[in-house]
Amino acid sequence: MSERFVYLDHAATTYVRKEVLEAMLPYFTEKYGNASTIYSIGRESKKAIEEAREKVALALGADVKEIFFTGSGTEADNWVIKGVAYANRQKGNHIITSSIEHHAVLHTCQYLESEGFEVTYLPVDKDGLVSPEDVRKAIRPETILISIMFANNEIGTIQPIGEIGAIAREKGVYFHTDAVQAVGNVPIDVNKMNIDLLSLSGHKFYGPKGIGALYIRKGVKITNFMHGGAQERGRRASTENVPAIVGLGKAIEIATKNMDEYNRKLIALRDRTIDELFRRIPHIRLNGHREKRLPGNVNISFEYIEGESLLLMLDMKGIAASSGSACTSGSLDPSHVLLAIGLSHETAHGSLRLTFGEENTMEDVDYLLETLPPIVERLRAMSPLYEKVKEGV
Ligand SMILES: *Cc1c(COP(=O)(O)O)cnc(C)c1O
Repeated sequence: MSERFVYLDHAATTYVRKEVLEAMLPYFTEKYGNASTIYSIGRESKKAIEEAREKVALALGADVKEIFFTGSGTEADNWVIKGVAYANRQKGNHIITSSIEHHAVLHTCQYLESEGFEVTYLPVDKDGLVSPEDVRKAIRPETILISIMFANNEIGTIQPIGEIGAIAREKGVYFHTDAVQAVGNVPIDVNKMNIDLLSLSGHKFYGPKGIGALYIRKGVKITNFMHGGAQERGRRASTENVPAIVGLGKAIEIATKNMDEYNRKLIALRDRTIDELFRRIPHIRLNGHREKRLPGNVNISFEYIEGESLLLMLDMKGIAASSGSACTSGSLDPSHVLLAIGLSHETAHGSLRLTFGEENTMEDVDYLLETLPPIVERLRAMSPLYEKVKEGV
């Protein structure tokens, strides 16, 4: 086992930042009041929730009344898609999304198809970009929702959200974006970008797991998600997870404030990794757009290699990364995202995702660059196909 540990999987999750944990801790112990009560420790919880809501609203350019806390990013995606579909059935039954969405969106859309809704899954180009013109052409009189992710969790491609939002607004169709990967990495302004609904999740920007939020523009017709008490203005009942909400608020505040500096740092790590891997290893390809991509995302396919073996060998060297197969462990299906940008099953299987974060350094990149090329060489040496390639057959 390696003595070194280099975590390069920040798109999967992040640790909780120290300041965030410290902000959360009192709400587990002495400040445990139920926010729906009228005595002072209850009112304190209520106040903490509303302060966190203000921080989320500020980060998105939204009004506090438009922010609703949820149990996760997945919950926010489920709520928005089912909620808009059910509340707007009178208007129509058609939803537009892309073929590279997170499963929280894709599987929810597939479920709605079984309920009689129609879904258009727009293709993407070789870099993973959705064409705004394709969105325009897909709109029908019965279209009730357009849902296009802000930035892709696997290949890092950032979509032209402002352009798509303008089209949705012009056509009078609600526009949702899954911004789980974008918050803290890309500036977001729901008004300038004409976003009507937006999902986010705490654990992708150094907040806790199991907490998310949904932005719902004032006036948007959507069903309530949980039926019960009056929490979240009756739309998402159940006693609030106050520590997690406080943590999410603190994390989004820090992420938004430090965004430029954070991005500069990640871009330097990302670009050196990409450039050096291309210099040192033949037969590789970069997945996702070279410039319109998340600052910390590297996704590379290695021909003649299984991504799973690569991950295991990197793990033995203390490097935590992710492969191109569906992130659901145990699944051997190649990633739907990599197939959508045109990769063959074999190439998709030989893919590696490295996502940098706050604690990573250039020394981590050096270590990766020392470690990865020999592993690739060793694995390829075991591939009969690669032997033939080397012999020029
Ligand atoms: C992680 C992720 C989600 C799911 O968020 P959870 O809080 O883990 O449920 C949804 N969409 C994208 C793009 C993600 O990266």
